[in-house]
Amino acid sequence: MFALVDGNNFYCSCERVFQPRLQGRPLVVLSNNDGCAIARSEEAKALGIAMGAPYFQIKHLEKTAGLTALSTNFTLYGDMSNRMMEVAALLGPEQEIYSIDECFIGLHGIAADTLTARAWRTHRQIAQWTGIPNCIGIGPTKTLAKLANHIAKTADRKPKPYPHILAKVCNFAAMNEQQKAYLFAKTAIGDVWGIGRRIARQLQTEGVCSIADFLQLNAATVRKRWSVVLETTWHELHGQPCLQLDNQPGPKQQIAFTRSFGQPVTSQAELASAITTFATRAAHKLRQQHSQTSQVVVFARTSPFRQGDTPYARTIVTPLLSPTNDTRAIVGAALVALQQLYRPHIRYCKAGVLLLGLTERYASQSAPQMELEWEAPLESTSQKARQQRLMTALDAMANRFGHGTVVLGPQLSANQQWPMRQARQSPCYTTRLSDIPLAIM
Ligand SMILES: [Mg+2]
Repeated sequence: MFALVDGNNFYCSCERVFQPRLQGRPLVVLSNNDGCAIARSEEAKALGIAMGAPYFQIKHLEKTAGLTALSTNFTLYGDMSNRMMEVAALLGPEQEIYSIDECFIGLHGIAADTLTARAWRTHRQIAQWTGIPNCIGIGPTKTLAKLANHIAKTADRKPKPYPHILAKVCNFAAMNEQQKAYLFAKTAIGDVWGIGRRIARQLQTEGVCSIADFLQLNAATVRKRWSVVLETTWHELHGQPCLQLDNQPGPKQQIAFTRSFGQPVTSQAELASAITTFATRAAHKLRQQHSQTSQVVVFARTSPFRQGDTPYARTIVTPLLSPTNDTRAIVGAALVALQQLYRPHIRYCKAGVLLLGLTERYASQSAPQMELEWEAPLESTSQKARQQRLMTALDAMANRFGHGTVVLGPQLSANQQWPMRQARQSPCYTTRLSDIPLAIM
């Protein structure tokens, strides 16, 4: 048995925890550089604001409809997510964190007749302890748990598509066949986890509109006409588990840190500062997953949307002589690449650093060998140990005081960094000492 715990309108809910005056009012969170809406409260959806709507098209609603638009605050969302996940983990013995606001919980060993009550308790604990409204779906497969969550989330929307009693917590395991058949007939096939718009449209043209229609098909037909993946979904909807709980996701195969600039960047010094920031952050992520890299990729390009700008895009791949996790070596390689790709009088709008060729780093490899030309010390064992301690200290400071507290030479310090338009960002209420709210308005 599986549960799927999901925070409702997660980014908006995180903001509302600390700004309760935003409760019940239309709220959107904007993408990097305040470009477009990437999260919407129910009230914002009711105003007809689409996912991805450009800010300039909805800006007038701030005056006419009381809309609030905020810049993203991933420090806040990440921290609130950790808190929510910790409480959600109390629901069962295993947890797979599926996204920033969703996790699967493995429920084996828990008495079936207690599941609904347990889920209600977790639902209330998350709301009480973190302030995040949430829904929980339970089912014998991951796909059914996901579907139960969808029902729990939509059951109290208007017009009511599902019985109100299923709102917030919905447990397929507590239903009889007739109740399940009713829900399957009421739910569009496109609402099922993993069935995208294109497949849903194809199925509809074949007369398969609801889950009930889909379950009437024959498994072999589904595989032959569509795919093995869709056949898996078919089995899962029939209550036959095919998807396992993935509670130990492997390390990422590549690490990327890329950003669009709020204002175009032309000077080499500014671009070097940005690249240093990106490489530093990527190296931090690399060490968090205990990996090392053997290839540093740097790219920078102009905007395809700015007419009149000379178009330019360049990517440089630098293989490292030996794998490393040292920020200084990675930044060094990235800056040499930047020297090669930089052209004056170009208005750069986006740049990034990617780390490829990742391998696991073993504890015995206490330090990387920096055999790169610009920094080729002959390292003794004690030097290696010191180098690794330096990286550990760098990570500890970044985790505690924020990225940009300690920076390498070419990087501007945190308060004068290359500009990103995030004019409407809320404080880091839970992670920055100076931002801790003294009173909640
Ligand atoms: Mg959600």
